[in-house]
Amino acid sequence: MIEAIGLSKYYGPFAAIKDVDFKIPRGQVAAFLGPNGAGKSTTMKCLTGFLAPTHGTAKIGGHDVLEDRMAAANMIGYLPENGPLYAEMTPQSFLKYMGEARGLDKKTLKDRLDYVVEQCALSGVYGKAISKLSKGYRQRVGMAQALLHDPQVLILDEPTAGLDPNQIHQVRELITRLSKTKTILLSTHILQEVEAIASHVVFIFNGRIVFDGTVAEMASGGDMEARFRELTTAAA
Ligand code: ATP
Repeated sequence: MIEAIGLSKYYGPFAAIKDVDFKIPRGQVAAFLGPNGAGKSTTMKCLTGFLAPTHGTAKIGGHDVLEDRMAAANMIGYLPENGPLYAEMTPQSFLKYMGEARGLDKKTLKDRLDYVVEQCALSGVYGKAISKLSKGYRQRVGMAQALLHDPQVLILDEPTAGLDPNQIHQVRELITRLSKTKTILLSTHILQEVEAIASHVVFIFNGRIVFDGTVAEMASGGDMEARFRELTTAAA
C-alpha cells in the first residue's frame, strides 16, 4: 500500500536519504524510527509527493505519487511535522476550506467535519484562531485535516511530538482506532509508542534503512532501547 522504491534525495552533494526501499502492506501500522536528522521527514515528504526525490519512486496504492498525483493524493492523509496550518483561520474555516479543496460535496463534508471534530476533540476550540491554539490543539487540527477525506493511508510525521501525557494518550488511542481500517506509517522517537501502536518497524539511520521487520524482531535479543543504540552504532 505504501512503497518506497530506491528513493534518494540529495541537497547539493549531501544525501539526506539514499536508496530507501520498503513496503508497508494494506492494514499494517508501521513505525518509522531513527535518530534526529536520520531522514524520516524527507522520506515522508517523498512518499506524499511534497518533495520530488533525486532518484527513485514512491507509490501509494500502486499509484506513482508524482505521475499519478491525484489518485495517490486521494488515498493519503498526511500530517506534516510542523503544519502547514493557516494561522489566521479557525479550525472550522480551515477544515471547511481543505474539504472543499479536496472536492468533498456538501453533505459528505458536513458528515466528515462532524466526525473529525469529534475524533480529534476539537469542539472547544472550533471557532478560535489557529494562531491562538496550544501546540497540542494545533496538532489535533493537523490530524483532523489528515483524516478529513477518509483516506486509506495515513502518513503521520511525529504525531505526538510536543504533546502532554494526556494528549499523547488521546492521539495514541485515536491511531489505534484508525489502525483497524487504515494503513499507517508514523514517525516517532518514542520507543514505548512503537510497542504501543505499531506491529512493524522501519528504521532509518544516516539516510539508509538499517532494519525492516516486526516490533518483536526489533526487540529480540534485548530491549528496544538497546537495539536502537546497537543499530545506530553498528551502522555509524
Ligand atoms: P528529526 O527526527 O530531527 O525530525 P528526520 O529524521 O526527520 O529528523 P530529516 O528532516 O529528513 O530528518 O533530515 C535528514 C537530513 O537532511 C538532515 O541532515 C537534515 O539536516 C537534512 N536536510 C533536510 N532538509 C534539508 C534542506 N532543505 N536542505 C539541506 N539539508 C536538509
